[in-house]
Amino acid sequence: MDIKKTIGDLAAKATAASPQNEGDYIGEDGLLYCGKCNTPKQFRVKGSLAAAINGGVMNCACKCEEEKRHAEEEQERTAREKLMLELTSPQRRNNCFSDDFYKSMNFGADTGKAPKAIEAAHYYVDNFERLSAANMGLMFLGDVGTGKTFAACCIANALIDNGHSVWVITASDLTRAAGNFSTSEETFCKIRDVDLLIVDDFGAQSNTEHNLSLLFDVIDKRYKAKKPLVITSNLTANELKSPNNTQLKRIYSRVVEMGSCPISPVVLTGEELRSGIARRKHEAVIV
Ligand SMILES: [Zn+2]
Repeated sequence: MDIKKTIGDLAAKATAASPQNEGDYIGEDGLLYCGKCNTPKQFRVKGSLAAAINGGVMNCACKCEEEKRHAEEEQERTAREKLMLELTSPQRRNNCFSDDFYKSMNFGADTGKAPKAIEAAHYYVDNFERLSAANMGLMFLGDVGTGKTFAACCIANALIDNGHSVWVITASDLTRAAGNFSTSEETFCKIRDVDLLIVDDFGAQSNTEHNLSLLFDVIDKRYKAKKPLVITSNLTANELKSPNNTQLKRIYSRVVEMGSCPISPVVLTGEELRSGIARRKHEAVIV
């Protein structure tokens, strides 16, 4: 348990707590209750932290305040979604990729170098409505140069053409954006809101404790939004199943659970590549 985070959470709760209103009363347990919904507006802090905090009692939101806040969040979410729907496909493409290079990775640019990856990408796009409704994602696993990123970007570009919002970002950039004070909130909103999140190079991020905690929050946010996740990764299916660290295990098991579409994982090997010549020729577009 991260004590600092716990104290931070408590402090946040206290800050957000509703003020005392007319009709509020002290209950038999000595805590303040809401006069409207009759649920407590305070709670007792247990354990060693209690002494450090104002008599061991902290403020919190009562049920009706909590519901009000929830409704406001929903309203804000609907407004965001509406805004997203109004975006044109070039705007959605700009929001999707951090680098113009990826915008040209589409089915039209396919050179036939990685047929298995492209076939999987077509399948995912063709069945997106159904798979997305069932929260089924896809995992592309394989070494560098097997066409994973190209295939994932083909999915992104095709779905953008079909009117969807997609975000393609590397795992490293994602944890960086999530951990940066100035971009964190926007990052988490985007993770929650886009129709498809594609995390490129999953597993290649630095695995410091702080980073893994961020990565878990990111994946968890997407998981709770009940929306699909596509990953590309150099990790093998076995490495995803049994990582050597508990924090990784927690993250990987969730990612594997989310990569649940019938053809997942799509495992790509160098042997899939057509020929050395084709490889050299198309190196520039297939990464
Ligand atoms: Zn209330």
